Amino acid sequence: MKKEGLFEGALRQFNKAADLMKLDDGMREVLSTHKRELTIHFPVKMDDGSVKVFTGYRFQHNIARGPAKGGVRYHPNVNEDEIKTLSFLMTWKCAVAGIPYGGAKGGVKVDPAKLSEAELERLSRRYFSDISIIIGPEEDIPAPDVNTSGKIMSWFLDTYSMNVGHSTLGIVTGKPLELGGSLGRSEATGRGVSIVSNEASKYFLGSEIKGKTVAIQGFGNVGSYTALILAQEYGAKIVAISDITGGYYNPEGINAKEAFDYVTAHKSLEGFNAQKITNEELLELDVDVLIPAALERAITERNANNIKAKLIIEAANGPTSPEADAILRSKNIKVVPDILTNAGGVTVSYFEWVQGLYSYFWDLDDVRKALDRAMKNAFKDGVKIREEFNTDMRTALYIVAINKVATATKLRGIFP
Ligand code: NAD
Repeated sequence: MKKEGLFEGALRQFNKAADLMKLDDGMREVLSTHKRELTIHFPVKMDDGSVKVFTGYRFQHNIARGPAKGGVRYHPNVNEDEIKTLSFLMTWKCAVAGIPYGGAKGGVKVDPAKLSEAELERLSRRYFSDISIIIGPEEDIPAPDVNTSGKIMSWFLDTYSMNVGHSTLGIVTGKPLELGGSLGRSEATGRGVSIVSNEASKYFLGSEIKGKTVAIQGFGNVGSYTALILAQEYGAKIVAISDITGGYYNPEGINAKEAFDYVTAHKSLEGFNAQKITNEELLELDVDVLIPAALERAITERNANNIKAKLIIEAANGPTSPEADAILRSKNIKVVPDILTNAGGVTVSYFEWVQGLYSYFWDLDDVRKALDRAMKNAFKDGVKIREEFNTDMRTALYIVAINKVATATKLRGIFP
């Protein structure tokens, strides 16, 4: 039997929600079809004088509610199916978060660790120049994702600005502060994950996350800030963390600040002082809350049966396969989906874009308060529909999102 692709899996989830809300066939077709799919092949001069051709993507799924929005990922496994799926998820995420954007995603199939700084800059500028035909502050606004950073956003901004002849702050988000970035953007996804974890703990487990045991897979931007904020501000007990070098376990609790500083200094958790476990073992720990914050498909039918956590908070995009989702449901393990959980990043990206357009910048407290409000409202909307339709949180949030995009589409009408 042919293995189901990522997009097929996402579409299956979309259709489950569409069936429940009795979405008509025409609207279903509109909302499950991408607006624009751009694949590019572009040459980059390498330091040794040779030329290599790389493949990149920028997909825009839907722009009914506003400009397209989504990150750019650099990874050797980037492919069309992944970018197609992630741009589709972005539409629903922006709708769930209540921000006026549609969904997009981009990526380059490359291992950036194998490039010099100069090669990385040339690759970034050429990629951005090539996708600029569909990018703009009112068309599509990229941001960082896996293996891309504020530094790369600065090159993107400069490349675009040089081509149009003036500085365009609204062209990307996730920029450094000195270049029109927003306070609170770096921590935003992790902070959003933490807010949702606490809300979900109250709703599903009956009390705040304070004192509850938590395991986090992935210790990059999202995982590290989640650990820090959950431990320091919410009093959660982080017992395990991991990254590409493996898992680190301490049943008495890992000092999140120490781990955060360790990764900042050493770039990975390799050598961090805790009991070494595998990433598989981390996922199967007997904890209250499991937070996958690495890449997609961490939980599949291979390991879903061994998961012991009571609550899973999807900080990564697409970390649970549809088959695993069904297994977890049968075991009464609650899953709070990516389209809500990690929406803090795009929400503060939206705040950054607004600040850039106005050239008026907020203080950190304003950003945090607005994020807190947005995440709690989105969680509440999901809970309301979950109870009304007697369904799981993922399907409920898809219903919330599909409703918003379908209504916008209907109000606009089909042109001409
Ligand atoms: P990152 O590149 O900063 O970090 C990824 C982390 O995952 C690293 O610690 C890496 O070592 C680890 N990792 C990779 N493969 C692993 C494996 N097999 N097992 C365990 N750990 C592994 O990326 P990030 O920005 O933190 O993003 C993580 C996830 O969150 C992605 O799915 C991304 O799409 C999603 N996300 C990120 C943001 C954001 O603002 N950065 C926003 C929304 C969603």
